[in-house]
Amino acid sequence: MQVLVVGAGVIGLAVARAAALAGHDVTVAEATGGIANGVSSRNSEVIHAGLYYPTDTKRAVHCVRGRRMLYDFCASHGVAHKKCGKLVVATNEAELLKVESIKAQAEKNGVENTEMIGGNAARTMEEELFCIGALWSAETGIIDSHGYMLALWGELQDRGGMIAFETPVERLTYKAPHWHVQFGGRDAGSAEFDAVVNAAGLGAQALARRIDTYPAGKVPRLVLGKGNYFGFAGRPVFSRLIYPTPIDGGLGVHVTLDLAGRMRFGPDVEWISEENYSVDPRRADSFYDRIRTYWPGLPVGSLVPDYCGIRPKLTGPGEGQADFMIAAEPDHGLPRLVNLFGIESPGLTSSLSLAEEIVGYLEH
Ligand SMILES: Cc1cc2nc3c(=O)[nH]c(=O)nc-3n(C[C@H](O)[C@H](O)[C@H](O)COP(=O)(O)OP(=O)(O)OC[C@H]3O[C@@H](n4cnc5c(N)ncnc54)[C@H](O)[C@@H]3O)c2cc1C
Repeated sequence: MQVLVVGAGVIGLAVARAAALAGHDVTVAEATGGIANGVSSRNSEVIHAGLYYPTDTKRAVHCVRGRRMLYDFCASHGVAHKKCGKLVVATNEAELLKVESIKAQAEKNGVENTEMIGGNAARTMEEELFCIGALWSAETGIIDSHGYMLALWGELQDRGGMIAFETPVERLTYKAPHWHVQFGGRDAGSAEFDAVVNAAGLGAQALARRIDTYPAGKVPRLVLGKGNYFGFAGRPVFSRLIYPTPIDGGLGVHVTLDLAGRMRFGPDVEWISEENYSVDPRRADSFYDRIRTYWPGLPVGSLVPDYCGIRPKLTGPGEGQADFMIAAEPDHGLPRLVNLFGIESPGLTSSLSLAEEIVGYLEH
C-alpha cells in the first residue's frame, strides 16, 4: 500500500517505520521543517514502567509492552538510555495509601520489578530524600528521545520511506479506492494514497475536521494541559527519578534527570486555552512548596524557568484520565484511515507498540 503518515513526531515516525517494515511504501508529511518539533521534543524523556494506568486500557497495555520493545530497540540501535529506576514517594500516611494502590495497579498491569520500601531504605538510596515509604520501580528509565527518533527515521529511509517537510496536510477526501490528499506549503499539490494515519499530535482534531465525510461527532474535543519545567541551578543530588503521588491531570512535579545527570523539576499541570510556550517564573513558588515535601533541602533561589510541553488531552480538570484514542474504520466507517487523538504521556514509551496496532488497522 501507499501509506501517508501525517506528522513526524515520535508516533508518526514509529508508525511510518512499522509500516515500512511491513513492506508498505511510506510517505510522512510534516508541517514544520524537521522531525520532533511538536510534543515529542517537550517532554520528560522518561521510559515509563506502566505503573499507574487503569487495567487493560491502551495506555496500560502499550506502555508496558512498548517499554520492553523500546529497551530492546535502544540496545540494538545504539540509542542512549539508562535504566536508572524511580521512587514514587509518600510523605504522609494518606500518600502512603496512594502509593500502595499504585503498587497494586502496577501488579495488575504486569509491571516487573516493583517493591514497596520503607523511608530508611529509600534514604539509603537517596540520602537527601524525605519520605515515610516509597514504591521502587527498577524498570523505569530515561532516553535520548531525539536519538531515538533519528533512529526511527533512519530505518524508515533504509526501507525506502521518506519525509516531506514543510508540507502541511490540508484536506483529505476518500474517493474509492483511494484517499485524495491536498497538501500546502513547499510541495503544495495533491496526491493519492491507499491508507492514511493522522498522527498530528495537537493538530489531530483540526485535521480530522478537514476529512470530508468524517462524522463530526467522532472528533473529540482537545484540552490543552501545559506542563512547565524548572531547571535546577546547582549540583544534582539525586541519581534516580523521584516522583510524588500523582495529581489531577499529571504525575506531579517530579525530579527528572537527563543522561548527563542534570536535574530538573516538572511538569506541573496548567490548563490553557491556546498554545503558548512561555514558562511563567511566578510558578516557581508552587514548585518550591511541592518539591520541599520530599526534598526539604531544596535551596532558595535554585529553580530557574526552563521549558514546557503541552499535553493533547481529551478531558479537563476533575474529569478523570482519558485513554489513548485510536479511531479506525470500525469507529468512523472510512476505510484505511486511522486518527490518533489524546496521545499524551506515556506516548513516547508506548510508541513502538502503538505503531504495531495502528499498522494492523490499515491492513485489515
Ligand atoms: C509535558 C509532557 C511530558 C511528557 N513526558 C513523557 C515521558 O516522560 N514519557 C513518555 O513516554 N511520554 C511523555 N509525554 C508524552 C509524549 O511526549 C507524547 O505522547 C508524544 O510526544 C506524542 O507524539 P506525537 O507524534 O503524537 O505528537 P508530536 O510530537 O506533536 O507530532 C505531531 C506532528 O504533527 C505535525 N502536524 C500537525 N498538524 C499537521 C498537518 N496538518 N500536516 C502535517 N503535519 C502536521 C506537527 O508539526 C508535529 O510535528 C509527555 C508529554 C508532555 C506534554
